[in-house]
Parts: sequence; structure tokens; C-alpha cells
Amino acid sequence: RSSGEKFEFQAEVSRLMDIIINSLYSNKDIFLRELISNASDALDKIRFLSLTDKEILGEGDNSKLEIQIKLDKANKILSIRDRGIGMTKEDLIKNLGTIAKSGTSAFVEKMQTSGDLNLIGQFGVGFYSVYLVADYVEVISKHNDDKQHVWESKADGAFAISEDTWNEPLGRGTEIRLHLRDEAQEYLEEGKLKDLVKRYSEFINFPIYIWGSKEVEVEVPADEDESNDEEESPESSSEEGEDDAEKSEDEDSDKPKTKKVKETTYDWELLNDVKAIWLRSPKEVTEEEYTKFYHSLAKDFGDEKPMSWSHFNAEGDVEFKAVLFVPPKAPHDLYESYYNSKKSNLKLYVRRVFISDEFDELLPKYLNFLLGLVDSDTLPLNVSREMLQQHSSLKTIKKKLIRKALDMIRKIADEDPDESSDKEKKDVEKSSDNDEKKGQYTRFWNEFGKSIKLGIIEDATNRNRLAKLLRFESTKSDGKLTSLDQYISRMKSGQKDIFYITGSSKEQLEKSPFLERLKKKNYEVIFFTDPVDEYLMQYLMDYEDKKFQNVSKEGLKLGKDSKDKELKESFKDLTKWWKTALSFDNVDDVKVSNRLDNTPCVVVTSKYGWSANMERIMQSQTL
Ligand code: ADP
Ligand code: MG
Repeated sequence: RSSGEKFEFQAEVSRLMDIIINSLYSNKDIFLRELISNASDALDKIRFLSLTDKEILGEGDNSKLEIQIKLDKANKILSIRDRGIGMTKEDLIKNLGTIAKSGTSAFVEKMQTSGDLNLIGQFGVGFYSVYLVADYVEVISKHNDDKQHVWESKADGAFAISEDTWNEPLGRGTEIRLHLRDEAQEYLEEGKLKDLVKRYSEFINFPIYIWGSKEVEVEVPADEDESNDEEESPESSSEEGEDDAEKSEDEDSDKPKTKKVKETTYDWELLNDVKAIWLRSPKEVTEEEYTKFYHSLAKDFGDEKPMSWSHFNAEGDVEFKAVLFVPPKAPHDLYESYYNSKKSNLKLYVRRVFISDEFDELLPKYLNFLLGLVDSDTLPLNVSREMLQQHSSLKTIKKKLIRKALDMIRKIADEDPDESSDKEKKDVEKSSDNDEKKGQYTRFWNEFGKSIKLGIIEDATNRNRLAKLLRFESTKSDGKLTSLDQYISRMKSGQKDIFYITGSSKEQLEKSPFLERLKKKNYEVIFFTDPVDEYLMQYLMDYEDKKFQNVSKEGLKLGKDSKDKELKESFKDLTKWWKTALSFDNVDDVKVSNRLDNTPCVVVTSKYGWSANMERIMQSQTL
């Protein structure tokens, strides 16, 4: 159709489409999952709006929240239709022509080199995967606020939009018609489509139907048939013998004569079971099902398992069910502009109805790396999102979610044989999935350790719980990670404080004169080398009644020496001279100290001042 209004794709979309259309990517199946996921999103949106405005759904078929798939073999068209919110003309231009999400550029780049399209859905460009299998795509859409329009493109840098005056009216929703490429004719096979829907769309909460054919045996009156035959070919009556036999049978049974014939009938066939996984008892859900569910939430269909999950049912004043996942890897943009970002990965449902995945009231920012959902029976259904955001139950839900999340993370450590002390090791080693769990907390820490640190800074209530999850290297950790509890278990008798030092690398810190004496006296010192650690230590004052002492700061006490007073006295003139020589602009004080061994003197930071490392960080402004 050449009549429509023409538009050019945003350059980035065009580039993406070029890559897709020329892609040799073998897993072309993914397009179906993306289309069904979009259909499901559109249905979620209309269902949400219908909570406050019942009229919006309309009547009859229009009010059925469902997805339909149809195959047209003759014209080589596969179509997927939903009765979701639909798109206005403006929506079509905006949604199917430009890319809003950040990070898409990086994705396009990555795809060009790796050729892996599996993560396309995560980048808000899943729709364009249709061009893996089609060379011409029509999107017919009807939104309540606009007339029905057709968007169409042959992926040649442009698309056209026309008011739809020729197709059957949709009522409301969207139909995507894929004109399949010659190499993609397999997607016209019913069996293939059914398989794909079952595989990819297990967790779609709307019924998915296919217009399927069925061979059925039907009984048709045989005599009618025969009399017809006779009429058409009167010669056949000459075979008297047969005729007679049949007649006698007829007389015997005295029933109307029928015969069975095979007939092909068409009907909508339901392909999925819409029972939500989170409503089932955790005991009944298999590991494989959780993994698949995670993949569908993450829009990541690789074969990696989530690191951990927690599925629970909260009862009491506020009732809800929740499933939380720790992903196997941190997403590419987790800490990108962390302090400005508002991005939670938790979906909120109220009584099975999807409300939003942009609810920041459910989890604190530092737990944004978790994925999952919450379904609450306590929250009201028929109020606006804004009202819901202020609902008092959210606070209770949040509190419980944090608690459960931190428990889940601690369990990753508890189950990791690398984490336990030698004494405990024997017990842990007995468990069967030992190999899989080995080293998993280190993996967690490497991916999400920074989130735990940010948590200590932000979440005063859970500071101690979070501090338990902290890992670091120290002068005694032997290149491995260690914890505060382990540090405390190794403390020397009489040692009151937890010693640490901050800097840009372990190598640099190991040479520090501040460590000389501590090492010699066999004290353990923690190395904090992440820029965020400096901030962290401003919030983490103590742990299990032990104070933290930065060994490069004033206040380091390594036990009294009988000669201290004597030395102080005999060097009085020198320290006095030095103080005036350096002047008060440069130093607060000059003291005799017992913190050094070989080095004659060091510059120490005052108790409340910035450490040298902090000065360095502030100068480079990195976090
Ligand atoms: P994403 O789904 O991550 O936003 P897509 O490329 O899959 O990215 O889709 C782009 C946008 O197009 C969607 O955000 C949505 O606004 C719109 N869209 C796609 N399919 C449909 C549909 N079936 N019904 C309504 N809107 C749709
Ligand atoms: Mg999508």
C-alpha cells in the first residue's frame, strides 16, 4: 500500500533493523515471545485502567482479555492479535519508530559484534525482532481514543501509517501481521507455533489461543449420501447384488443408516495454563519452573540459573505473596547514574491484577538488582496509582521484603562451603548440591557487593544485617574474601577495635608505613580499596560492639608501652620545634607515637578529618 503517510525511522532504529534483517542469528523463534510479551503488556494496561473505569473494556468479545494467533498459509501470513490497550496514530509513530530506552546504543553495538539477539527484550526493542522472520510487517491498531490505523514497513528505513478503511474493525487492540520470508515458512505450521507458545509463554497471565484445525470423525447419514450418488450416477444401481445386501442390513437394524467420515474443523484452541506460579505452594514448584519464571521476568532467555530465589507468603495485617530472585549477573546499567535512577525490577500485582513495575515504594534503591513480584490481597484495587503509592500497607510490605531479601542473600553465603570455617565445613560438604554452591557468595559479592555497601550507607535500620554480608580482603585473608565475623574470631586478646586502612589498591596499601607496626604485632588490618568504602566507613561506626579504627587516623591504640611517657618527655623539644617549623596551617599537632616500626615519621589524619584516600577521591570525584 503506497497511500499512507510516510515516516523515517530514527537512525538508531534503522541501524538495528538492518542488523536484524541481515542477521544469521539462528534462534529466530524469539520474535514470537516478544510479540506475545507486548500483547500481554497491552492487556495489563487496559486491565489496569478498567479498575477505575469499567466502561473502558467495552462489551462482548471486546471485553475478553486474550491473545489470538492465526495462520494464513495461502498468503503466508502469521498474525497475532490482542485486545489490549491498542495504539493511537501518535503511539504508532512514537513506539514503533523511535527508541526511548537508554543503553540501546550499547546494545546495538554489542549485537553487531556478538550477533546474539537473545537479550533484545531487555533493551526495549523487542518488537523489531519480527524482521528476523518477516520482510513486511503490518501493525493494525485501535485505541479507544482514536480511529483504527495501520502501520507498515518493509524495514527499508521508512514506515507508513494510514487510517484503516479496509480491514475488519478490531474493536480495540492490536493485530500484528507478519508476511513471512521464504526461509521462515515453518512459522505457518500449527505444531511449531503451539510448541513455541508453550515454551516461551508459560507465564503469560492471559489466555493465548490459536486458530487451529482438528481432524474429527463425524457421522453422516449414509443413505442420503448413497441416494445422492445414485442420482448422480444412476448406472451404479445395476449392481444389484450389493444393493440388495445393503437393503437387507437396513431392514435388520431398522435404524437410520450412518457412516463415519473425517472432517477438518477449525476452532480456537487454548495453549496456556494461566495459573500464576506465585499462587502455588513453594513446595510444589520445581527448580526448573523457578528458573523459567526468572527468565521470563528478566527477559533473559539464556541458560543461566538465578543465583537464588525466595518465594513466600506473608500473612497478618498485610497479606501478600512474593517471589524474589537474585540474578546470575548484574545488569549492564545497574550503577549507572545510581543516585538519579529510579528503577525497581519488582512487579506489583493486586489480587492477580498487574499494577505496575515502576513502584519504587516496594524496595529501597540499593536492592534494585533483585527481580521479582509482589501480589497483595490487602491493597485496594480500584484506586489510582498515586493513591496506591501512598497506601500505608506499602511500608509493611517493604519492610518484609527487605528482611526476606537479606535473608535470601545470607543464605547464599551460608550454603557456600567456601564461606564456612574449617570446623563447619564438614557439615556443609555433606549436602548434595555442594559443587554448585561452592564459591557462589564470592560470585554474588563480585556482582552485587557494591549494592550491599550502598545499603549500609542508606539503610540505618538494617545496617548491622548488611554489615554481616560485607566482604573484603585483609592482611590475613590470604588473597581471599573475609567477613567481619571472621575478622572478629581472629582478633587478638585485648584487641578492642577493628583495624582498617583505605587506599586505591591492595598492593599500594600493603607497602604502607601505617601497617608496619600492626603487622609486626600480628594485628589484622582490613583493606578497603573501593572508592565507595570511604563513604561506607563514615556510616559504619561499629560492629558487634567493636569500633572501627582507620589506622591512618589519629586515635590508634596498640596497647600502652611503659616507655611512652618517657619518650614523649625526652622528645618534647623536637616536637615543639617541628610544630612551629611546619606552622598550624599545615599540621594540627606533632606527636611521638608507637604506630611505626622502620619509617621515621608519617602524616596522620585527625579523627574527624578526611583520610588521604578520601582527599584523593574527592579530587577525582569518582564513586
Ligand atoms: P518494550 O516492550 O520493551 O517497550 P518493544 O520494542 O517490544 O519494547 O515495543 C515497543 C513499544 O511498542 C511498547 O513499549 C508499546 O508501547 C508498543 N507496543 C508494541 N506492541 C504493542 C501491542 N501489541 N499493543 C500496544 N502497544 C504495543
Ligand atoms: Mg516488548
